Amino acid sequence: MIQLHEAGLVYRDHGREVAAVAPVTLEIPAKEFVGVLGPSGSGKSSLLYLASGLKSPTSGSVSFRGQKLGEMADPDSARLRLRNFGFVFQFPYLLGYLTLHENVCAGRNDGDYSDQALALLNELGLKDRAHRYPHEISGGERQRVCIARALVGNPEVIFADEPTASLDHANGYAVVDLLQNLRGAGTLMMVTHDPSMLEHADRIIEMADGRVISERSKTASGAETASGSA
Ligand code: ADP
Ligand code: MG
Repeated sequence: MIQLHEAGLVYRDHGREVAAVAPVTLEIPAKEFVGVLGPSGSGKSSLLYLASGLKSPTSGSVSFRGQKLGEMADPDSARLRLRNFGFVFQFPYLLGYLTLHENVCAGRNDGDYSDQALALLNELGLKDRAHRYPHEISGGERQRVCIARALVGNPEVIFADEPTASLDHANGYAVVDLLQNLRGAGTLMMVTHDPSMLEHADRIIEMADGRVISERSKTASGAETASGSA
């Protein structure tokens, strides 16, 4: 579904070059839960930015369903992200002057998502809070609102960057469970430094020092196949 072909990302920081992702070739297959694991600074977020088109590779290419993200005009790639991708980040960003229900639908001019938003808030245990404002709920609840916002419109891919890092373990685990169970047929690419959050992942991409050091896929039989890749 998403293909990285020798895709690399180099940041230029005050004249110094930082190789955040060394050129890598890999595929994020449809419908899988793909975990990206590694310590802080290993390039996990950068890999997620590449796969989702939030950043363009400085070498190689990234394509979604065979279409190169870098070759699209900005409005096209923004539309592609809006319609096909959902995002959850570490810190729940919600608009303080909108209710939770309004936050879930905010920015969507491509359809009426009001009913689905309420249904999702309901499934996330927030139905009786839908009319509240972000400052009237807890951090764990705010992250659940962000999950509803990421899932509305049934995106083909949900990108989650350390969605559990600002939560305690129980709330973090609940967040992963919800993402995993409510994504329907959507692919889930989740970045974390905590292996216990990837118990149910179909595939684990491990990073260290800006490199993908291993990719493990759990096949249907439950056996793991490991492939080291440079
Ligand atoms: P992780 O998500 O695993 O913590 P990141 O992808 O955020 O890692 O960062 C990978 C490397 O790139 C780190 O060395 C980080 O300092 C560097 N980096 C990240 N963002 C920038 C930036 N905007 N400019 C320069 N260097 C950056
Ligand atoms: Mg990160």
